[in-house]
Amino acid sequence: MQWLNLHTHHPVGSTDVLEIESLYFGQEITHRSGFRSVGLHPWYLERLDLAAAEQWLRQQAALPGTLAIGEAGLDKVTQTPWPAQLDAFGVCLRVAADTGKPLLIHCVKAYGEIVQILNHPGGVARRPRTVVFHGFDKHPQTAQMVLHAGCHLSFGAALFREDGHAAEALRQTPAERFFLETDVQKIDIKAVYARAAEIRDVPVSVVQEQVWENFEQYISSAF
Ligand SMILES: [Zn+2]
Repeated sequence: MQWLNLHTHHPVGSTDVLEIESLYFGQEITHRSGFRSVGLHPWYLERLDLAAAEQWLRQQAALPGTLAIGEAGLDKVTQTPWPAQLDAFGVCLRVAADTGKPLLIHCVKAYGEIVQILNHPGGVARRPRTVVFHGFDKHPQTAQMVLHAGCHLSFGAALFREDGHAAEALRQTPAERFFLETDVQKIDIKAVYARAAEIRDVPVSVVQEQVWENFEQYISSAF
């Protein structure tokens, strides 16, 4: 059993950590980690050729080591026009559903909209089997809505914020429904596990085993 870092932009190459590096269309593929997720990030959709992006996504998804599609999602704070975000998110949903890969979600102030799309993908796509909202830092009520929709949550740096809501959200999240990550932060993933263990009032080994079990059941079993 290893440690899992579900979502990072800065893999450090520790031999005992399985790191899923987040890559988006237009970015150079570094292969710094043997494992990756590939997506169309709502921040980087300007002048995007959606057909070319979808082709890239499908090629990348077929490579060994591509464990998930994402990050993908909707962001109400970024400049990217909403229709372009919806189109790109639709492509990612479709590729995730077609390939059986989990979908890692980037969501800023659009929880209701994303849950609505997941519950009613309409003609656009089937729903992916596993959907994880990454970098979760919202209230427990928002967490409950996302969990109720059958999705998972991934927690990172927000757990260290004294005034944040993420710690309480993690405390209330069922054991089989959470992951841990470092995202853009250059922090040690093991420190995130230690913090999660403190919040859940269990030994670190319990968190490590649980997250690994979740990985095997919901992420790695998909390929
Ligand atoms: Zn990220």
